[in-house]
Amino acid sequence: MTPINAYAAQDESSKLAPFTIERREVGANDVQIDILYCGVCHSDIHQVRNEWGGSIFPMVPGHEIVGRIIKVGEEVTDFKVGELAGVGCFVDSCRTCPSCLANEEQYCDTAMVATYNGRDKEGNPTYGGYSTQIITDQKYTLHVSEKLALEGVAPLLCAGITTYSPLRHWNIGKGHKVAVVGLGGLGHMAVKFAASFGADVTVLSTSPSKEKDALALGAHHFAVTKDTATMKGLQGKFDFILSTISAQHDYNQYLNLLTLNGTMVVVGVPPQPSAVQAFSLIGKRRSLAGSLIGGIKETQEMLDYCAEHNIVSDVEVIDADYINDAYERMLKADVRYRFVIDIASLK
Ligand code: NAP
Ligand code: ZN
Ligand code: ZN
Repeated sequence: MTPINAYAAQDESSKLAPFTIERREVGANDVQIDILYCGVCHSDIHQVRNEWGGSIFPMVPGHEIVGRIIKVGEEVTDFKVGELAGVGCFVDSCRTCPSCLANEEQYCDTAMVATYNGRDKEGNPTYGGYSTQIITDQKYTLHVSEKLALEGVAPLLCAGITTYSPLRHWNIGKGHKVAVVGLGGLGHMAVKFAASFGADVTVLSTSPSKEKDALALGAHHFAVTKDTATMKGLQGKFDFILSTISAQHDYNQYLNLLTLNGTMVVVGVPPQPSAVQAFSLIGKRRSLAGSLIGGIKETQEMLDYCAEHNIVSDVEVIDADYINDAYERMLKADVRYRFVIDIASLK
């Protein structure tokens, strides 16, 4: 086992700081990846601060990983040394339950093995991409095109697939009026995908300063949610709403913007529950649903779609030692639109 440089939180109240981890030896089906970039997801903050409960420390976050393969095991057929590769939110699952067999490993009955803040099948804690290397099973590793700017590809591994998957599942496209709530890491990818699929896209944001960016990202309209008159005017207007809000808020405010038979899908995971009024749903036969990342097959499809359509995340590249400041800025909704760690700063 070789020691690997990483950034870790030692407990839920400490800042992230340099830390050394060990990775397993490269097994027959494994690829060893020299990490080049790792995106910073708001889920990293929730878990580092133990906002969802059950966090495992020390924690090395990071599940938007891209890098170059430096070694492959003898049974690896799908990847070669020197190729780019990506790793998203999970690195294993049971492989036999109906969800796993349906290529939806994120909904594994036994539970997927999270890329970090999880335990592998031997019970060892998993460590994520705020580190210089990772070793993953080829089945849970993604192919990454050489065509796109790599720092912009990293966030596709979580922010990308988490927004692509529900838009595809609900068949969003031409003729649909879509609202994306929250213009952060997930939100800005949702705008790019929904616009690319042909929908009419509105961004609903608490930040008036993001209007110009929203339109540049492909949105057709922008509204500030703190403006009561504007919100009233938008009631019953949207077929589909994708909510990426990371903090406590009132779901009813957004449900009431859905048209007859409209659906709101929640991907944001505020730590606190929110009360839903039956009246927000029944009057117009509305649905409230949720969605979790996406399976490996669909993640590959999304990466290939991005390579074909030249879609990447808009990023601010940072050194690893800026991570605590980046978290503070994300908590103030001050991210345009994804922080990505240049892992060279850890080497
Ligand atoms: P982010 O980059 O920090 O963006 C969140 C955005 O939400 C902010 O930029 C802000 O946008 C808006 N917002 C923040 N606080 C708000 C409030 N109190 N009321 C209304 N809007 C608020 O976060 P992210 O990385 O996109 O992640 C968003 C959420 O998705 C997190 O909870 C994360 O854990 C979750 N997530 C879920 C999945 C999944 O599989 N379901 C996957 C990844 C992440 P405006 O400035 O435009 O208002
Ligand atoms: Zn994430
Ligand atoms: Zn399974």
